[in-house]
Amino acid sequence: MSHNGGNDNLTRNFKVVSHVLFGRGCFEQVDEILSQNRNSIDSFMVFAVDDVFFQSDLRQRIPIKARDLVLWVNVDDEPTTTYVDELTDKIRNFSDNLPAGVVGIGGGSTLDVTKALSLMLTNPGSSVSYQGWDLIKNPAVYHVGIPTISGTGAEVSRTTVLMGPEKKLGINSEHTVFDQIVLDPELIADAPLQQRFYTGMDCYIHCVESLCGNFLNTFSGSYGEKAMELCREVFLNGEPDSDDKLMMASYFGGISIAHSQVGVCHALSYGLSFVLKIHHGIGNCLVFDCLDEFYPEGVSKFHQMMRKNDIQFPRDLFTNVSQEQLKKMTDVALGLDPLWEHALGNNWKEIMPRERVEGLYQRLFK
Ligand code: NAD
Ligand code: ZN
Repeated sequence: MSHNGGNDNLTRNFKVVSHVLFGRGCFEQVDEILSQNRNSIDSFMVFAVDDVFFQSDLRQRIPIKARDLVLWVNVDDEPTTTYVDELTDKIRNFSDNLPAGVVGIGGGSTLDVTKALSLMLTNPGSSVSYQGWDLIKNPAVYHVGIPTISGTGAEVSRTTVLMGPEKKLGINSEHTVFDQIVLDPELIADAPLQQRFYTGMDCYIHCVESLCGNFLNTFSGSYGEKAMELCREVFLNGEPDSDDKLMMASYFGGISIAHSQVGVCHALSYGLSFVLKIHHGIGNCLVFDCLDEFYPEGVSKFHQMMRKNDIQFPRDLFTNVSQEQLKKMTDVALGLDPLWEHALGNNWKEIMPRERVEGLYQRLFK
């Protein structure tokens, strides 16, 4: 689960990102920021960069020094524990010393890989054993997140969502939170429009779910309402500075769910992506499309945004879903107790028996 572990979150003392740089062109300041952390002559940085930038102008602008290690991160599949363990070994094989920092450049998947690497370098064993809440013992290596597409809130959250052999679950801990984020709206300008919409809708859905549930409080409400307003401006009005607004919406939406919770859409979408490997953004959209009975106003605005942005879902995602797969995705969804409790209340198990969850999935597959 990408967000909180339980309904005790009102009493939690949340850690936040300590340094936030925002503004057009601020990527140029990354060199200066990193140089403050390159504290000995043999220190090195690890750059974890989405491989979509392998042949891009951005590549030339990354302040890579001779000693640094660049890992090109592939996000065709969402990050797995195996992938994180492999990359951690690569860094360990590169040097006997810890890097001075791990810098992630990419979308939610790359940012999650970055967070996971920074944790796994200082915590022994496989990342599988840390999927859960507060299982990390040792502080992470200094880590920096630089988003190139906006919506997930991964830049601000205390989790890194990983697909493990048994479950899709985050490494949730204080140490997961980035030390520094660099929010440069120019970096998201070239994201493909369809993907920008799906990832942006992750933020919109975070807001709808955060604001419609039992764990809502003034703190999460304040951030959630502002993020929701920004999403509407971006996806309904298409305002000129919409990249700036989308970046801030993602950040505010991420803070909102940290202090509240996501809901029905995320629970179902987790099951969908675990079994069918459907990515988070599009998975959320496909599910949310059918959730008018839970979020009537949110879904109606969502349909408006789809029309306005000329979005059509790919048609071939759900061929031959077997009974066994349906059972598994239902198990995954129903395992996310806090999400259901937030959305439906303490008696959610009566409101949402298995058959109803299966029925909701079947609406998608028809
Ligand atoms: P992503 O990182 O999976 O990237 C989606 C696609 O966009 C990829 O093909 C990527 O290469 C491409 N892309 C990214 N930036 C680009 C750019 N500027 N130009 C061209 N192409 C670009 O997308 P996402 O939706 O940001 O992240 C989804 C992931 O985030 C999932 O793995 C999900 O589990 C995770 N997530 C994490 C949190 C959290 O709090 N940690 C919250 C929600 C989702
Ligand atoms: Zn999400």
